[in-house]
Amino acid sequence: MPRLLRSITCGLTTLLFTPAILAAQQSPLPAATGFDFHPTGVSLITGCKAAIHRVRSELHAVDSVQAEKRTFANTVGRAEHATMSLLDSAAAYANLYLVSPDAEVRQASQICSQQLAKFSVDVGADSKMYDDAVALSKPGVLNDPAQRKVAELYAEQGRHAGAGLDSATRERVKGLFNRLNDLQREYAVALAADSTTITITAAESKGIAPQLLANLKQAPNGGYVVPVNEATSGPFMQTDASSAARARFQAANLQRGGADNVKRLESALAIRDTLAHLFGFPNWAAYQLDTHMVKDPTRVIAFLNQIDSELYSKTKTELANLAAVKRADGDNTALLSSDISYYNAMLRRTRYKVDNEEIRQYFPVDHVISGVFGIYEHLLGVKFDEITPADAWAPGVREFAVSDAATKKPLGWIFLDLFPRPNKYDHFATFPMRPAVHWADGTFDMPVSAIVGNWPTAAPGKPALLSHQDVITFFHEFGHLMDATIVNVPFPTLVGLRQDFVEAPSQMLENWMWQPSVLARVSSNVTTGKPLPPDLIERMIALRQLGAGYSNSAQAFYAMFDMRLHTATGPIDTKVTWDSLQARMMPGVTFTGAYPAASFGHLMGGYDAGYYGYLWSKAYAQDLFTRFEKDGVMSASAGMAYRHDILEPGGLREPDALLQSFLGRPLNYDAFYRDLGITTHAAGSPAGK
Ligand SMILES: [Zn+2]
Repeated sequence: MPRLLRSITCGLTTLLFTPAILAAQQSPLPAATGFDFHPTGVSLITGCKAAIHRVRSELHAVDSVQAEKRTFANTVGRAEHATMSLLDSAAAYANLYLVSPDAEVRQASQICSQQLAKFSVDVGADSKMYDDAVALSKPGVLNDPAQRKVAELYAEQGRHAGAGLDSATRERVKGLFNRLNDLQREYAVALAADSTTITITAAESKGIAPQLLANLKQAPNGGYVVPVNEATSGPFMQTDASSAARARFQAANLQRGGADNVKRLESALAIRDTLAHLFGFPNWAAYQLDTHMVKDPTRVIAFLNQIDSELYSKTKTELANLAAVKRADGDNTALLSSDISYYNAMLRRTRYKVDNEEIRQYFPVDHVISGVFGIYEHLLGVKFDEITPADAWAPGVREFAVSDAATKKPLGWIFLDLFPRPNKYDHFATFPMRPAVHWADGTFDMPVSAIVGNWPTAAPGKPALLSHQDVITFFHEFGHLMDATIVNVPFPTLVGLRQDFVEAPSQMLENWMWQPSVLARVSSNVTTGKPLPPDLIERMIALRQLGAGYSNSAQAFYAMFDMRLHTATGPIDTKVTWDSLQARMMPGVTFTGAYPAASFGHLMGGYDAGYYGYLWSKAYAQDLFTRFEKDGVMSASAGMAYRHDILEPGGLREPDALLQSFLGRPLNYDAFYRDLGITTHAAGSPAGK
């Protein structure tokens, strides 16, 4: 049985293309996706329970098939249909706790999510299903490659869920997984419910970006109350001129979720360590990586150490430059980590004439969205039509039908939920809710997925304006939406990609937002309607690597922190680990905040012992991009090859095979190291060795 709730995949002119969002009327799909996004608390729980009950009986029937009568269709195949029916009836219910504006619905959805997680633990550890999968995945038993792959994945997932353990250990493992799932859900809820603010004085508000300032409430001291969240973080940290206010903001931001979240994480670490040992692994990282591409934590650690040591001097030079900018600005105190965004922005503005706030004027939300749609339509041979009124979970959420441009065949629904609300998921991610399944009998279960994000709120009466980074993030997340929509496989289990490859397609697509023609196309000045001027684009692109040493070092640091937590033996203090690692990997910068692990959602959201995947899959991303460098970023033939070779097979093939079919050769790390600015890397040699 596959995991029922796949983890969220936590990362852009006007020349030829009609903005898709204007073509609202002729949508090839109705608004109703089949999901009930507006249940009452009671109907949600009743519906959720009934769905689980139905599928539980179905799986009992599968378990009653005797070994000698076992076929793919009456065991694993039937379980795949049961999985789909469960997702059809309950996936929306299990996601609403992170997005619904209704407190009763959120509460009920948490209960549903818990029940589904428990059910998933039960069926994952089902030893009969595991035996079936092991028997079916033996060489020569199944001829159909898709069936064989599903059977192999069932065997792998069953082994990982405890199905192969003796019954007493299995019961213990199930109890621990249930507790772990509870802690992870509670951690996410605490982050979504967090409404931390800081108060700044009027003097401390100097420099604040106008769009942000327009949304701040007045404080009794004559200053302002600043909400501390994903939407305010970038604008505040880049523009507020007060070093003290920035340090307060960063400390508050790192502590979102509170001391209770640190306790939840530390409890989860202990449970994971116990689980790893019950499975015969030395630690949780070894257990997790057993089903990833990398396999071995020592290889990850060597890879991260290599990046860290190669970037060390570049990062040090960048930090020295920023410290000099700070001194030149009249502040002789040491550079803090909370100063970095601000002085980077100042350096870009003053020395290189690239003003982030000026660039923001060119990225009004609606234009960006239609520009992004146009690019994906052109590259992947798809079409987007807005469906109005949307059938979504909250006002303001936009719904679109995706269809194949050539055949007009509908491919699925996507939702864009892009602005903050109280109690909403706090980060930017893609939620795959129903997988795309093209069953062998010709029927098609159409996928539903959503981008849930927190863009800066518009100033009253104005359109929301995005930073270049916001646009890159959107293009990245949209890549995940396309993965979820275009995949063409006959079983739900084959939809997902390996956890340390899942970011690669989206990371490859980030490169688009650094091409002059693409930037011109997705930009339109909010006042004049003109695209970004070519000379400004040129200066923006020239600065692509400015600060990249620091940001990649920081990625390596976060990844190493994750690996430290998940390779430790015995109880671990996350703060002590953070501080000691930071002193080694990020010398000269201090993160303020008493417990930075409170808001590290990845560690409690499916990226545990997996954060390295962002850097690891970037090697695949940059290598994949070499084909577009050669053929052109708007090459429709390269785009269609990407669709056929990477997106459509999805989890049916392993990442190295996907890459091989698109590039016609195995992975080469040169483009990755070139992107990191590492020149000492020997051409052609692999990473982490
Ligand atoms: Zn991503």
